[in-house]
Amino acid sequence: SVVAEAQLMNREKLQELPAARANNTHKGSFGHVLTVGGQAGMLGAVLLAGRAVLKSGAGLTTLITDQEHQALVPLYAPELMVSGFSGTSDDEPLSAGKPADVVVMGMGMGQSQWSKQLFKLALKTPSPLVMDADGLNLLARSPVTPEHLRVITPHPREAARLLDVSVAEVQQNRWLAVRQLARRYHCVAVLKGSGTLVSDGEQTWCCPFGNANLATAGSGDVLAGMVAGIMAQGFSPLSAAHLAVLWHALVGTHSRYGFTMTASDLLDDLHEIIH
Ligand code: AMP
Ligand code: MG
Repeated sequence: SVVAEAQLMNREKLQELPAARANNTHKGSFGHVLTVGGQAGMLGAVLLAGRAVLKSGAGLTTLITDQEHQALVPLYAPELMVSGFSGTSDDEPLSAGKPADVVVMGMGMGQSQWSKQLFKLALKTPSPLVMDADGLNLLARSPVTPEHLRVITPHPREAARLLDVSVAEVQQNRWLAVRQLARRYHCVAVLKGSGTLVSDGEQTWCCPFGNANLATAGSGDVLAGMVAGIMAQGFSPLSAAHLAVLWHALVGTHSRYGFTMTASDLLDDLHEIIH
């Protein structure tokens, strides 16, 4: 049965994240992620995701976001590169030259014309794709599943749209829903919420950690960035999703801030768990 195949995540798994780095490495060794989202007025989500990409160890990230955000990004997070997207026919392909190691898309992206334009363009890049938030809402309405889709990170409402069922149906059988998501979209599915599940359609993992400290704005944007940042360092989509969920949950559980924790605090505390 489905339940018999379920496995509980174990925090030992986090030891797969390298504690020390070889000396003969450089930022290019740890991957470049395109962090795509943030329609006008929604800069926060994509900023959090971009910061999470770097905090989880990736070498470089470039935000692709509304052009009116371009000058603001370095003021908040100078370590992020940024490329403005206008949503007109003037926009260049997202990765001219060497393709990025991973694309993570959807945080604060909206579902406007601008969003749809960006969604279409991002799907043309050949890089492995992690999809979250409004990217998932656009995916649910898209006639095709992108070939490079590797991980989706829906909360129950996004999962319900992706499966074309009600939220109650998703929540009543989360084990089944996460497997269906993985099979239908040919990727690793992360079904978020208390007892987050990760499935590749065959194996399903349950995260017994995490608590309602994580129920805070931007928490999911941080998780999506972490999945991409870990993948960029060479982990498989399944391993990256598993590691990100575990790490994120443990930070939430052990947060010195308790329920006053914000997504920015979560980012600041990532090192507490891995040492
Ligand atoms: P989002 O709704 O996209 O911001 O994502 C919220 C994040 O917080 C996901 O990783 C959820 O699994 C996590 N989260 C929210 N509420 C809880 C909860 N009560 N217990 C455990 N994790 C939670
Ligand atoms: Mg979200």
